[in-house]
Amino acid sequence: MIPPIASRFVAGESIPAVLDHTRELNEGNVKGILNLLGEHYDSPTDAAADAATYRELVEEIGRSDLDACISIKPSQIGLDVGAEVFAEHLAAIRETAAEHDVFVWVDMEDHTTIDDTLDAFEANVTAYPKMGLCVQANMKRTREDLKRLVDLPGKVRLVKGAYDPPKALAYRDKARVNEAYREELEYLFEHADHVAVGSHDPAMIDHAIELHEQHGTPFEIQMLMGVREDAQFDLAREYEVYQYVPYGDKWLSYFYRRVMERKENALFALRAILQG
Ligand code: FAD
Repeated sequence: MIPPIASRFVAGESIPAVLDHTRELNEGNVKGILNLLGEHYDSPTDAAADAATYRELVEEIGRSDLDACISIKPSQIGLDVGAEVFAEHLAAIRETAAEHDVFVWVDMEDHTTIDDTLDAFEANVTAYPKMGLCVQANMKRTREDLKRLVDLPGKVRLVKGAYDPPKALAYRDKARVNEAYREELEYLFEHADHVAVGSHDPAMIDHAIELHEQHGTPFEIQMLMGVREDAQFDLAREYEVYQYVPYGDKWLSYFYRRVMERKENALFALRAILQG
């Protein structure tokens, strides 16, 4: 069972738990992006098991009346085993999603995975347009990738980037990453049919709102469970807002990452432990 301290960031261990959380979100007009925790499997069996769980999750979402979609990490469904294994599992999940009319997001992982992820995404989104791909503004290659993506069906989620790529390939300075994020937002609002803003940063969200008002391009805001939740519900009164909701038994390392990335989260965890 997930201890109460971790339940701020993780919805539970099971499909019913994540669906219950999504129902509460939907009551506040926030939609759910459901993510089964797990990554970097080098065993084909583990990758196949998570791919099967994703198909089950898609079926459950399809049978429910919930406003929810899924988001998958490539290395969770076989990219570390082989690009063809990942492509095969993604195609199987996409087929189930098409049967149940469920949207499928693909997360972006470290720089070594970008080409294979783009290729698999392109192969699938041309068969089923209710798919989206995450791109990272800190990568210097991102504008070229966006040029390819805006000509495809599907959506793009722009994030700043959670990994630590080599200096030659990426902007490392926070201010430069923010500048790149603004520039890529501007490119997307001008050239894409839809923009997904994956950020908690009020400055980036305000910029996206200005760009939406200027260009009329539809957009959605995506934030993580447990991060600026009041803002999520406030924004959802006016805009389309999704909460990215992790669940599953591999919650410990995810919880640790959330706590370590921000002083306030570490203090929250410490307070909860002391109050006991
Ligand atoms: P930051 O640059 O971290 O912070 C900017 C400002 O935002 C802060 O000054 C503060 O005002 C506000 N803020 C940020 N965090 C908090 C907080 N915890 N509490 C209060 N205020 C806060 N990365 C990937 O590489 N691949 C992915 O597939 C991916 N998917 C994502 C999906 C979603 C829905 C989201 C939200 C993020 C995803 N990320 C992904 C992570 C992303 O790359 C960033 O690492 C992460 O979002 C932090 O950047 P930021 O834009 O939120 O703001």
